Amino acid sequence: MGQIQATIDTATDTIAVFDPSTELRIGEIADGGEAAVDTAVAQARETFRSGAWLKKTPSERSRILYRAADLLEQRADELGDIDSRNVGMARGHARNLVLASAEQLRYNAGWCTKIYGKSSDMKMAGGITGETSDLLGYTLKEPVGVAGCIVPWNGPVLVAITKLAPALAAGCSIVLKPAEETPLSAPVLGEILIEAGVPEGVVNIVNGHGHTVGAALAAHPDVDKIAFTGSTEVGKLIVQAAAGNLKKVMLELGGKSPVLIYDDADMSRAIPGAALGAFINSGQGCVCGSRVYAQRKSYDRVVEGLSKAAQALRLGGPDDQNVDIGPLISGRQMERVLGFIEEGRRDGVEIVTGGHRLDRKGYFVAPTLLTGVREDMRLMKEEIFGPVVAVIPFDDEEEVLSWANDTVYGLAAAVWTQDITRAHRVAKRLEAGTVWLNAQFAWDPAMPLGGYKQSGWGQEYGLEGVEAYMKTKSVYTGL
Ligand code: NAD
Repeated sequence: MGQIQATIDTATDTIAVFDPSTELRIGEIADGGEAAVDTAVAQARETFRSGAWLKKTPSERSRILYRAADLLEQRADELGDIDSRNVGMARGHARNLVLASAEQLRYNAGWCTKIYGKSSDMKMAGGITGETSDLLGYTLKEPVGVAGCIVPWNGPVLVAITKLAPALAAGCSIVLKPAEETPLSAPVLGEILIEAGVPEGVVNIVNGHGHTVGAALAAHPDVDKIAFTGSTEVGKLIVQAAAGNLKKVMLELGGKSPVLIYDDADMSRAIPGAALGAFINSGQGCVCGSRVYAQRKSYDRVVEGLSKAAQALRLGGPDDQNVDIGPLISGRQMERVLGFIEEGRRDGVEIVTGGHRLDRKGYFVAPTLLTGVREDMRLMKEEIFGPVVAVIPFDDEEEVLSWANDTVYGLAAAVWTQDITRAHRVAKRLEAGTVWLNAQFAWDPAMPLGGYKQSGWGQEYGLEGVEAYMKTKSVYTGL
């Protein structure tokens, strides 16, 4: 089996990798720095120029991606176990994300044979001769070139495949940079792609810190596009770094998603839905619903229901049985989350449940429910990225919409109501790239995913996701 990882023979630094449920070191990676990025980009450029991938017929490329999906599925337990140990995700959740990645590959495999431009007859009046001339115009869809993909730690396999699959469907060559906290599953993805038939050098993996390897990739003059998933703060650095050669930039960033629960909601679905949306992956999800607005008459019931759901969640690591959620990714992240809770406590917020670290090894924070918060508090403005949800009562629609939209983020929002007219009216007014009506945390590879406001630029998933890795050329033919 071939090795597709870019050769890192210039490593200047090593980075330790940990199991956040035990705080034990489970491996290390080399930070190849700029030299590794140069090697990987050169390799990607060479395969793009030679057409190693693009010269295959669309149907051949499609079959290879379908094969990769099957191989990924066959290795779902292995990959799920790696991500579960490295991220701290519950085993079942990690495995589900691998299966979702296989579906991403299948969805994008279908596009390989369906990419083409448009054509049109046209006339141009008053050319050089002053006569009207006939023209045939058509558009060509071409791959953007070398795509640099930078991914975060909270869903290593899924977020990587969400970039690799459409980039490969579009015909690009790729340099992938996994998060330094969670680099362990990426080499397996590399093996799978090679085994499926992606030529060597088309997908190149470089490891290292964000401020070294990530920054070098974002600034590299021979990279045509950066697809980035991560924090809004780093997203802004990517934009600056990309300015050198004005490479295309796609950003999937942070969120502070509101959840609106009306009095007429089906509470048997709304409360478990809001609990899942807030606490899945210990709240380390970009779309986690961390602000729950409950209509006044239902407020007590929502607080009680969410509090019970939070207390019922079983926390544990990959070696524990029947685990719902795991630890936070690192000690630093845990301190950050506890810091938000402490600040709230000092400002008079009531901690209905949770609010503390678990008395065991690992970076576990008890699922936490807050009430008595004010809209201007930092914990209502910033992304906490932990198992912390605030519940706020509301009286009318204008009020709740103004609060829901009063954020620099715009990734996702949810509405729970039985009133179909209200549901669609509110969906139109919520400033978010994804709105769930009577659902939360629902996905499909065919539905575009992207953030409004400071939650991102561009979209992944769907046809938009493939087009993000293509450029359009207009060709005019005088007849
Ligand atoms: P992060 O921004 O710290 O890091 C993400 C990636 O960027 C990592 O690979 C990191 O090494 C790299 N990086 C860091 N500094 C860099 C720099 N200066 N130049 C280039 N690359 C750099 O994010 P994180 O802490 O790994 O992940 C959590 C964040 O990701 C949260 O804000 C979350 O909301 C967001 N996220 C968004 C989505 C989405 O689809 N919108 C999905 C998952 C996570």
